[in-house]
Amino acid sequence: MRFSELALSEEVLSGVEKAGYSECTEVQAKVLPVTLQGNDVMVQSKTGSGKTAVFLLTILEKHGRNKSGAALVVAPTRELAVQIENDAKILSAGYPDFRIGCFYGGVGYKDQLEELSSGLDLYVGTPGRLLDFAKSSKIDFRCFDTVVLDEADRMFDMGFYPDIQDMFSKMVAPSERQTMLFSATLSTRVRNLAWSYMNNPEEILVQPEEITVSKIEQELFHVTHTEKFGLLLSILAKEKPESCLIFTNMKDRAVEVAKRLQMNGYKAAYLMGDMPQSQRLKTLDKMKSGNLPILVATDVAARGLQIDDLQLVVNYDIPEDYESYVHRIGRTARAGKSGKAITLACEEYIYGLEPIENYIQMKIPVLWPDEIGLEAVEDKSEGYHYKSPRRSAVHDKKSIKKPSVKGNKPQKRKESKPKPAEEDYAKLATMSLDERLNYYKKQYGVSGSKPKKVNAQNAKPAQKKPSQPKPVAEKTVETKEVKAVKKGIFSRFVSRFLRRKNNG
Ligand code: ADP
Ligand code: MG
Repeated sequence: MRFSELALSEEVLSGVEKAGYSECTEVQAKVLPVTLQGNDVMVQSKTGSGKTAVFLLTILEKHGRNKSGAALVVAPTRELAVQIENDAKILSAGYPDFRIGCFYGGVGYKDQLEELSSGLDLYVGTPGRLLDFAKSSKIDFRCFDTVVLDEADRMFDMGFYPDIQDMFSKMVAPSERQTMLFSATLSTRVRNLAWSYMNNPEEILVQPEEITVSKIEQELFHVTHTEKFGLLLSILAKEKPESCLIFTNMKDRAVEVAKRLQMNGYKAAYLMGDMPQSQRLKTLDKMKSGNLPILVATDVAARGLQIDDLQLVVNYDIPEDYESYVHRIGRTARAGKSGKAITLACEEYIYGLEPIENYIQMKIPVLWPDEIGLEAVEDKSEGYHYKSPRRSAVHDKKSIKKPSVKGNKPQKRKESKPKPAEEDYAKLATMSLDERLNYYKKQYGVSGSKPKKVNAQNAKPAQKKPSQPKPVAEKTVETKEVKAVKKGIFSRFVSRFLRRKNNG
């Protein structure tokens, strides 16, 4: 489709021409007809597919028709905000009077205040600085009749969820504005956000990243939380990957795993989404040039990450969001190559396994350390534990201020049923996956962690609990004894195999 076939004014088309665009990209062809009608959308499309022009052209077309309202574009980083501002400057060439302002932290307020005083048609910015200006009454969020959340998934990863809630609470009702949400992935939490703050958004998926799961050799180990790092060392010793990407669910864990690998003599680094861009790029370049064999990352770092010839992906933690599993393991086996993905299933995140296997429509083959000849390796980092000096760096920037979060730590999840008998583990090895999952359910009283369905009626801004819904086990308190025994059995189970192997 060409831009000239869309319901765009001459002025807007002249901006398109200035940008050098003639044919719409797929996301533009699919989404612009919807947004130009004034409808809300949530759009999933991969990086570089041309999402920016979708919302900017919609905003510009509305500006041409009705000069009263202002538009707001919220982006997770300063770099992105600036890039959007630059694109807007080009695409608005047909409207010389179109005023754009860009607001982000890390710089003084003076220039940005000056911009604000003149009144603007388009406000682009990062959440923190925008809210600062709202607090000092320099920006009135009720003036926006068009609101765009760009890279919504990254906003979550960077802990901006409370800020986003805050912003929406200052705006006019969803029905009185047009809201557009863009994301590289539409995870459950992004969908929940959309249902909470949007007006019946149309969900548009474009070029979902195609991952041929079948080309990837998948393996899974059952291991206790405390034995995980030892198992990782054993796996690395056996696999000896030239390039390996290890995923953790939490930032602190990523740092810890990277540091412990370093202590054990591995060249390893960690990567996170809210690192300064320069540092992120430096680390990535090292990996790409072959000077860094092991990278430990949280999910956000994986987005758009392309490392050719990545040999091994390790899920140190099972991802809590089943789609993330596919995104993670898809970092290997790119461009038709084969690759390997190893998942460590511990008691902390085992709940994520069933939804993943439903999603990928296959059982991940389970391996047992002794059967594949995994050797125990001395762990020179034993006992090391990393805790971020800022608790806020762990998961969600703001939520830590709320006292309730203390009880929300995943480790504290209550498990109710008594411990399994040790001989059960031998049985486990011979069970089919269905049987195994049933076994887990019976043992731990878990009812599976299907994504929570949300509809417009019951969707409420989750003011009190920014964390994701967690499956809740039956309400019996696990005694210290039960915990200790359970832990011990898991430990003994793994170490027994390792020991047996070592002794001959
Ligand atoms: P996304 O936000 O989906 O990651 P961008 O909107 O930043 O992608 O666009 C990626 C690149 O593609 C930019 O350099 C942009 O100028 C260019 N681009 C966008 N739309 C078109 C088009 N219709 N024709 C040619 N180039 C385009
Ligand atoms: Mg973009």
